[in-house]
Amino acid sequence: MDGTRLFTGGRIKTMDPRNPSADSILVCGQRIAAVGTETDVMGHPLACKTEKTDLEGRRVIPGIIDGHLHFAAWSEGKMAVDLSGCRSIHEVVEKLNERAASLPDDRWIRGMHFDHSRFAEKRLPDRSDLDAVKNPVLLTRVCYHAHCANSKALELAGMMENKDLPEGVQRDGTGSLTGVVLESGADLLYGAFRRDTPIGEEHLEGMANCMREMASYGVTSISTSAAVHIGIDESFGPYQELRRRGRLLQRVTIHVNDLLPFGISSFLGDEMIRYGGLKLFADGGFCARTAAMSFEYNGMPGHRGELNYDPVLFRETVQRAQEQGIQVAVHTNGDRAMDMVLDAMERVGELFPRPWLRHKLLHCYVVRPEQAARMAALGVVADVQPVFVSDEIDIAEEGIPEGMLPFSYAWKSLKEAGIIVAASSDCPAASPNPWRGVDAAVNRVRVGDRTPVGGWHPGQKMDLDEALEMFTRNASFSTGMESVLGSLEPGKFADLVVLEDDPWDMGDEDLSAVRVFATFRGGETIFGKL
Ligand SMILES: [Zn+2]
Repeated sequence: MDGTRLFTGGRIKTMDPRNPSADSILVCGQRIAAVGTETDVMGHPLACKTEKTDLEGRRVIPGIIDGHLHFAAWSEGKMAVDLSGCRSIHEVVEKLNERAASLPDDRWIRGMHFDHSRFAEKRLPDRSDLDAVKNPVLLTRVCYHAHCANSKALELAGMMENKDLPEGVQRDGTGSLTGVVLESGADLLYGAFRRDTPIGEEHLEGMANCMREMASYGVTSISTSAAVHIGIDESFGPYQELRRRGRLLQRVTIHVNDLLPFGISSFLGDEMIRYGGLKLFADGGFCARTAAMSFEYNGMPGHRGELNYDPVLFRETVQRAQEQGIQVAVHTNGDRAMDMVLDAMERVGELFPRPWLRHKLLHCYVVRPEQAARMAALGVVADVQPVFVSDEIDIAEEGIPEGMLPFSYAWKSLKEAGIIVAASSDCPAASPNPWRGVDAAVNRVRVGDRTPVGGWHPGQKMDLDEALEMFTRNASFSTGMESVLGSLEPGKFADLVVLEDDPWDMGDEDLSAVRVFATFRGGETIFGKL
């Protein structure tokens, strides 16, 4: 937007501690020129000749920043054959054949979102099941940790004759491939799928649709990560193309799984598309019980999850990134993984101090108090997904020994330890709607029946200001954008959300129901109308 706009009569929550609330805001081009009372703002030289918009008492907050998700994977998942409703392998094959009918024989078919524990057969589809489809087929289980392929796909991936495949590639008693791949080993399949499926118009259209959905929740920035070992890719090109077409709605920061060439360091780019850094995975998932804990999981004697790295190799990887000025975002679920990550970061931080990189530790499911103190001393960001607490209360109680539950999903303790805690969605692993995360952080109850009454481990409940701070101000810090985003202050970008419902009036109601009236990014309307 080139012009100047004056918004008055609002209830503006600025997230700027020096000037926390206001009723008027003056936007000049892409930036905020003034925030305060109408009288204050009218004193600005540009205000008097400006068109005035009445906010009619609506609540305004800074644009929401989703600090960690897998955006391309989310949009890809919407284009894949949706197998979430299937209750048998027969139904899976039927659905795939419906899609195959409209495609040339060499086009890959991707199927997603299924959960084989809900199939009558209670097993993953294998090669012989999927050979009933004429096209190459690649299926991804809802958790992204199991993959199924037919013979055509295995052939195209060069896996049929390959004797030297990674451990996760399953073979039957006779040594031939079953088509099922767990965790590592799926990269060959995804590599072939991507080689044969160039990014085309439908991909761009899918991404543009997802951006529209994000704008409808009030999201103005996203930070997206690749996870190539489970088939989740990210690249800069599609976002650049959307921008060229004027269809890039959110600001995008991208983390990939390798160091970039040409000595590129973190945050290269501009205010719309930037390189974030290196995404690493210290351990596995909590639901699969592969998150690396210092303790045994309940009912699983001897099982403490797994580290994905040898600690020395991990430290060397962090060191290479640090030397090159690259932010590291580490998937760190369990407290044993946290030990490895903190050991590495402390050592590397002594050798090459680069505090401005504010490395991100993602998820932080179980963090012991002394680890929280080390995180605070290091100045790393905890990037958490509050929505998981509402999805996983039962899984947590089943798996984590009672004595460790107070240190699990304990965002408030992290904040009180002095850590900057940012929040995000981890979509498509969870809902992209940040208001679900806000509700979970504030109320800590199960989705659906909203139990336990009063919240699960209620001492860890955040108040609404704290919850929104995680999704705005703190998330801007985690992406290195705190000087221009995260709060409504003069000089910052005019990324703001006008709400239809005021969550501060909603008590302990379900905050995921909050509706957005209009979303602005850089002064430009990206959702709604005002
Ligand atoms: Zn993730």
